[in-house]
Amino acid sequence: MEKCIAENGVVFYRSEKLSPVRHGFSTRLGGISTLDHTAAMNLAFGRGDDGRTVIGNLELFCSALKINPRTVVSLPQVHSNNVLYVKEPLRGGGYFSDPGICCDGYVTDRKNIALGVKIADCVPILLSDNEAGVIAAIHAGWRGTALQIVARGVKMMCEIGAAPHRIAAAIGPAIGQCCYEIGEEVVEQLTGLPSADQYISPSKTAQNKYYADLKALNRAILMRMGVPSDNIDISPLCTACLSDLFHSHRKTGGVRGTMLAVISL
Ligand SMILES: [Zn+2]
Repeated sequence: MEKCIAENGVVFYRSEKLSPVRHGFSTRLGGISTLDHTAAMNLAFGRGDDGRTVIGNLELFCSALKINPRTVVSLPQVHSNNVLYVKEPLRGGGYFSDPGICCDGYVTDRKNIALGVKIADCVPILLSDNEAGVIAAIHAGWRGTALQIVARGVKMMCEIGAAPHRIAAAIGPAIGQCCYEIGEEVVEQLTGLPSADQYISPSKTAQNKYYADLKALNRAILMRMGVPSDNIDISPLCTACLSDLFHSHRKTGGVRGTMLAVISL
């Protein structure tokens, strides 16, 4: 994954694996938010910025990616495994209109639609089968990971023409195992996942505490779905360690802005 600085100053990450599909993972840098906790690039309503500021940030981020902001679909997220097949009427949903739907994953084969997921520690996953012209965006916190939402995304992609061996995936910046402490109740939800024993480790200092690698767990789910490991890019960056660069829910106790991962054919 590579860091990009757009002409308009927006800093974002992109993956060669998804190229030439337009996409990016936003950072805190390059926006117009001025509050301490949202500065400078906050891409969600309800975090303290006024609506015009959020839309201004969306326009800047989309301009950096050469995506039309009015085509972005990013609805309220509820840590579900709901994946939606997105068609034209939903364009702009979440930023310019409220379709009244909550959703944590999107799939489309339409060229005039951008799919977006909002994150601040949770794992953003962007997927593409360039040959089939099918893309997906997935939001996976521990609940979404436990529910294997990314597997549902791959399945839905394949229902409209994608093939697992052709799918490329970029797992973006998210909280790393270094900072993602969980209790036994969460471990219980994650233990059934592929390679769970490899990616959940007991804390060396605290009893009944563990550290989970959500990014690697999602990669393992993708591989079990038939996506080749060579096709999967995984960001090593931890959103909680790098709080000048990323918004982090854990690091700030929830007083934070929100990032967006977006992809468009
Ligand atoms: Zn960390």
